Amino acid sequence: MATRTKDYYAILGVTTSTSDDEIKKAYRKLAKQYHPDRNPENPAAAEKFKEVAEAYDVLSDPDKRKKYDQLRRFGGLGGLGGSGGFRPGGAGGPTMGGDGRSFRFDDVGGLGDIFSSIFDFGKKTADQPSGPTRGHDVEYLVEIPFKTAVRGGKVRLSIPINEECATCNGSGAAPGAKSDLCKECNGRGTITFGQGSFSVPRPCPACLGRGKIPREFCPACSGRGEVTRKKRISVTVPSGVDTGSKLRIGGQGERGPQGGPPGDLIVKFRVKDDPFFERDGLDLKCEVPINLAQAMMGSKVKVRTADNRKVVLKIPAGTQSGTTFRIKGQGVEKGETRGDQLVKVTVKLPDKLSDEGREALEKLVEVEELKH
Ligand SMILES: [Zn+2]
Ligand SMILES: [Zn+2]
Repeated sequence: MATRTKDYYAILGVTTSTSDDEIKKAYRKLAKQYHPDRNPENPAAAEKFKEVAEAYDVLSDPDKRKKYDQLRRFGGLGGLGGSGGFRPGGAGGPTMGGDGRSFRFDDVGGLGDIFSSIFDFGKKTADQPSGPTRGHDVEYLVEIPFKTAVRGGKVRLSIPINEECATCNGSGAAPGAKSDLCKECNGRGTITFGQGSFSVPRPCPACLGRGKIPREFCPACSGRGEVTRKKRISVTVPSGVDTGSKLRIGGQGERGPQGGPPGDLIVKFRVKDDPFFERDGLDLKCEVPINLAQAMMGSKVKVRTADNRKVVLKIPAGTQSGTTFRIKGQGVEKGETRGDQLVKVTVKLPDKLSDEGREALEKLVEVEELKH
């Protein structure tokens, strides 16, 4: 029997009385720690990352959190799977504010499932009036090179999309197949667990909430009513996007049930770091080392721009270490505006002086009266 313990508070290491801000902080810290980029060879981390995201998704949404808290208080829920129920402590570790208890679900498909049945309830139940509805939006996170973010460009994506099966329109039945009324739920499509005000209706597991069981399953989806496909799409990235920017592409999301219009694709960007540049709004900051002679006597240095060109920067005589020079129009482009490139020069002093060098320097100090 599969056992899953999901206490979202425990997962984020917070309590029911933790403030929204602290919950956000806890989430950020964990998300960073378990990020797949940081743990490329570690599937357990990826799993944890998903769990943390799921927990935050619920706890950061006041509405979902309220429902979740209700669910948490509802002791009978664990009874769904038989042996579960509330129990003290729990694999989640020392946790939880409030009642100080954790709960466990056995073989009920995990809390995620129960949630979807509460939050998306009616998505596929027999009670829902059937007819064309708009497909769901699909959000997809994509990492883009620094230069693409700064100057714009194209990225090719391959996005897995779960959507209603087009062959059976989600019914799970083979074309033309007859269906029988589901005996488990008497055709209602739902089964109610628990008692009183805490009763939780769930889609009937026998008929997947449809109320009917086809005599022959749809060959395209094996009766699931849902298929997964890879959507390949080339996306034009507008210049100036930053980590967290979103781009909505109309009609590229999930297929609309019963022939309804498709949802949208929402591409969310994460911009890779650049070893040389740092973004500051539309400006690009970088640092260039110069030597003592260049600082004192002036010089010309070549500086790389975001377009991978070299521009010549004139360093005037007597430039102090840490001085910042501005190269106009070489920053991030956004719409009609372009930021600048800010070049900070730092004077690198020689580690060691030769005897000759020391003599020359002493001479310089004397001549220029550098001793104060
Ligand atoms: Zn199908
Ligand atoms: Zn049923």
